[in-house]
Amino acid sequence: MPDDLLNSFKTGPDDKGRFGQFGGRFVSETLMPLILELEAQYEFAKTDDSFWAEMDFLWKHYVGRPSPMYFAERLTDRLGGAKVYFKRDELNHTGAHKINNVLGQIILARRMGKTRIIAETGAGQHGVATATVCAKFGLKCVVYMGATDVERQAPNVFRMRLLGAEVIPVTSGRGTLKDAMNDALRDWVTNVRDTFYCIGTVAGPHPYPAMVRDFQSIIGKEAREQMLEAEGRLPDTIIAAIGGGSNAMGLFYPFLDDTDVAIIGVEAGGKGVNAKMEHCASLSGGRPGVLHGNRTYLLQDEDGQILEGHSISAGLDYPGIGPEHAWLHDIGRAQYVSITDTEALAAFQLSCETEGIIPALEPSHALAHVAKIAPDMPRDHIICMNMCGRGDKDIFTVAKHLGFDMKV
Ligand SMILES: *Cc1c(COP(=O)(O)O)cnc(C)c1O
Repeated sequence: MPDDLLNSFKTGPDDKGRFGQFGGRFVSETLMPLILELEAQYEFAKTDDSFWAEMDFLWKHYVGRPSPMYFAERLTDRLGGAKVYFKRDELNHTGAHKINNVLGQIILARRMGKTRIIAETGAGQHGVATATVCAKFGLKCVVYMGATDVERQAPNVFRMRLLGAEVIPVTSGRGTLKDAMNDALRDWVTNVRDTFYCIGTVAGPHPYPAMVRDFQSIIGKEAREQMLEAEGRLPDTIIAAIGGGSNAMGLFYPFLDDTDVAIIGVEAGGKGVNAKMEHCASLSGGRPGVLHGNRTYLLQDEDGQILEGHSISAGLDYPGIGPEHAWLHDIGRAQYVSITDTEALAAFQLSCETEGIIPALEPSHALAHVAKIAPDMPRDHIICMNMCGRGDKDIFTVAKHLGFDMKV
């Protein structure tokens, strides 16, 4: 190991794909050759300048990067303490950070000669991002989505169909995200030759958690440079919302070795982190187990059955959390907290009123935690929060909770 990495938090995963006791590769033997091929191809692409040149070109001209680093001045005044910046990833094409990663995986898929892309989706955001990039490259796109979610997320189902994707409702199990992930893995084994499985968060078997993190790290890489430009120094605290943990890992990773920078991940606390599991806080309220090909903290009952959890935000209801977060939590490099539905709703409105930014409900969780801690911090304390998605998709949910009758 090179000297500069000896005391680094950036060395993971090891060659077995593990971050400490988390991560790994828990897949059937039939999947192993596929995973190994993917790993080899990604290892090659990672150090290939032409791969990153293609990424940079499309990040700039298709996604709209770099996203701005914005000083939220009226919000800062309202909170009366720390100086709050938003990393504006909600301004990306398709309205969130997911496209950063999808672009990377699909460029890789093209290099591997794959012509058919499969994905699983819960709320539909990752499905839409995948269908978008597939349309752009003329690739066949198949999205597995729990039957329950197909009903709950009709607008995203329609978007995917407009973009030319085939949406397959999954009726096995309880018909939600976990079942869609299983079916996508099954599809992959059956269609080895032409198919690439595009995973939407820092989960799945190795090398996915590291690969997705690397693609999303553009967020933290830009944030670091922009902060140095705006303030001449790094932020004191960085903070992001966590579903599976990809936007958070993308912001956190480039800062992991800046040990003066405090790192906070915000999980969905739903109705409170209680015994009834009416939340999606895998770290705060879950236990280690194996799901989706890796070992991590999961929402599960006493028999190890995966639980659904609850959050006002559909994008945060992944039943697990990326293995690298589980590790950062256990070694204490990052802190993980939870925010309830009610607190997130209040933060959603706060951003609308003070900044003219309608945030997605996911980053509203991060903002709610900012609103909790900023007032007690000195004025020269700098917080950088990832505004990872915009709220257009959430206005119906918010209207319902605020008792606004939206007759359309
Ligand atoms: C999907 C989504 C999330 C949750 O996914 P992560 O992998 O935790 O980033 C958060 N915010 C938005 C806007 C999303 O679309």
